[in-house]
Amino acid sequence: MKVGFVYDPIYLEHDTGQHPENAKRLEAIISHLEMTGLKQQLIPIKPRAASVEELLSVHDEHYISHIRDVAQKGGGWLGADTVMSSGSYEAALYAAGGVIRATETVMNEEVDSAFALVRPPGHHATHQRAMGFCLFNNIAIATKCALADYKLERILIVDFDVHHGNGTQATFYDNPHVLYISTHEYPFYPGTGSIKETGSGTAEGTTINIPLPAGSGDTEYQEAFEQIIVPAAMRFKPQLIMVSAGYDTHWADELALMQVSVTGFAQMVKVIKGLADELCNGRLVFSLEGGYNLRALTASVKVTFDMLLGNTAIEDPLGQSPRRIEEPNIASLIRKIKEIHNLP
Ligand SMILES: [Zn+2]
Repeated sequence: MKVGFVYDPIYLEHDTGQHPENAKRLEAIISHLEMTGLKQQLIPIKPRAASVEELLSVHDEHYISHIRDVAQKGGGWLGADTVMSSGSYEAALYAAGGVIRATETVMNEEVDSAFALVRPPGHHATHQRAMGFCLFNNIAIATKCALADYKLERILIVDFDVHHGNGTQATFYDNPHVLYISTHEYPFYPGTGSIKETGSGTAEGTTINIPLPAGSGDTEYQEAFEQIIVPAAMRFKPQLIMVSAGYDTHWADELALMQVSVTGFAQMVKVIKGLADELCNGRLVFSLEGGYNLRALTASVKVTFDMLLGNTAIEDPLGQSPRRIEEPNIASLIRKIKEIHNLP
């Protein structure tokens, strides 16, 4: 298995200070991959800056120039939760370009799969708004580029970040060529992602939301993957699978209330990789979104690479949640989603 990874120190130039989404996240991931000897098993992919034209496939031109201007003026807050520094525009261009490069490398068969370790993250960024720590919607931009450059008809995006990827959903809400499936804590930030949001017009049915109750853990995620994501993917027959990989779903993450373990992430990645192997010659691209507890984040990213490499041993240094008391019952939720989407 040839597995690529995108990283560049330019991502550290998005300086957010004490913000939970800070440069230490990527520094910790890279040093953990080095320390565990995993990095030598991976193929480095050099990112490039996304062009303004590529950004325009998702974002408004005034919005793009606004982000550039804020950086030129030294940075500042964009709304209540998203902050920029002078290096943020450049870092954000390379974040989008990093996911584009990961996708090109997979499509050109230089690697079997790839993981873009980028920041700022992207899935909350909308056409004309930065939010939820995101500036440009990296995965949406790379997906748009893949559709155009490789003349693809069907791309599946799986988003297992604990938050709903409202920006990604909105980008493809009326696009039948992209099936967007999200598992997320609900109700929760950013408020979107109900089962009733299913796409519009000819894209009706190509948005599938799996809004899970707080406290959901490995069992519930496994259930959601097996009952919804697998049959939906089999029916859609994607030519490429993109993943918004957010690890704030881990039980130790301070920003949310889910109970997934490192082992749980390994199981999800295994299912997604199985789908890619069966449906699209293994073509699979991961893009880093959230994940704010450094121990959980680094161990979860490592186990993701292990699964992509085909390493079977799962190292889970944090184990299962010590807080998991009652397992939520999601049987009726799963039934409803199956009904709405006419899944077997
Ligand atoms: Zn998140």
